[in-house]
Amino acid sequence: MFDYKAPHNLLKDRVILVTGAGDGIGRAAAKSFAHHGASVILHGRNEQKLEALYDEIETAGLPQAAIYPIDLETADYETFFEMQQNLGNEFGRLDGLLHNAGMLGQRTPIEHTKTDVWQKIMQVNVNAVFLMTKALLPLLNESADASLLFTSSGVGRQGRAFWGAYAVSKFATEGLMQVLADELENISNTRVNSINPGATNTAMRRLAYPGEVPNSNPSPEEIMNAYLYLMGPDSKGVNGQGFDAQ
Ligand code: NDP
Repeated sequence: MFDYKAPHNLLKDRVILVTGAGDGIGRAAAKSFAHHGASVILHGRNEQKLEALYDEIETAGLPQAAIYPIDLETADYETFFEMQQNLGNEFGRLDGLLHNAGMLGQRTPIEHTKTDVWQKIMQVNVNAVFLMTKALLPLLNESADASLLFTSSGVGRQGRAFWGAYAVSKFATEGLMQVLADELENISNTRVNSINPGATNTAMRRLAYPGEVPNSNPSPEEIMNAYLYLMGPDSKGVNGQGFDAQ
């Protein structure tokens, strides 16, 4: 596991947006960031899941959270520009963005991949990520020490048969991270990196490996060290790198 022990007030007074916060790794990350002092903005597409997490954070007496539902499949640039305006008005700042939401799609040979599934995966995993990044960068760049973190995968670093659009979308994610990190190096306080969670017991993993014993993999809560390191000030100056959470 990633060797880092976060101080409990690591993210005090920071405002951090987590996409796909309703379930799996995003849910654990949002909770962990809140436990370390951040005000978290919970993005997702399922309002019920987001409200349940919001209530949990409130009941635990953690910093005030907010909910921001958007379906990444249908969102366009206007949606994210409006998000930038709303977050600017509501919080006046954004110190972190964890792009975590993602879809698996079909596990099938490229030749048999349905074109509509391909487009959908690219829309959710790549296009929406680009559009949100483009819209929110001005807000991140105003922060004294912002972290922009993309979520990759093992199959986004080494292609593997039958991982289709998902794998290609994760290669694109790594590409976006590297290009942006290089652009912002020296001209911005925003650092840009990617994280590969590794096999983690979530709905997505169970869908990809239906024959696997689910708790043979770590829970999302168990892989949070790397997320905390990359979101907090201890990773200041780290830019353009791909990390493994495990
Ligand atoms: P989950 O399927 O558990 O969670 C994914 C989250 O993304 C869900 O909250 C889901 O919403 C949200 N999401 C999906 N589509 C959309 C959409 N169109 N609009 C808005 N939100 C959406 O997956 P994980 O937690 O496992 O995955 C998190 C990230 O980690 C992903 O990027 C994944 O590719 C990556 N990853 C995961 C690995 C693993 O072993 N688990 C390994 C390598 C990478 P909803 O709750 O409504 O479904």
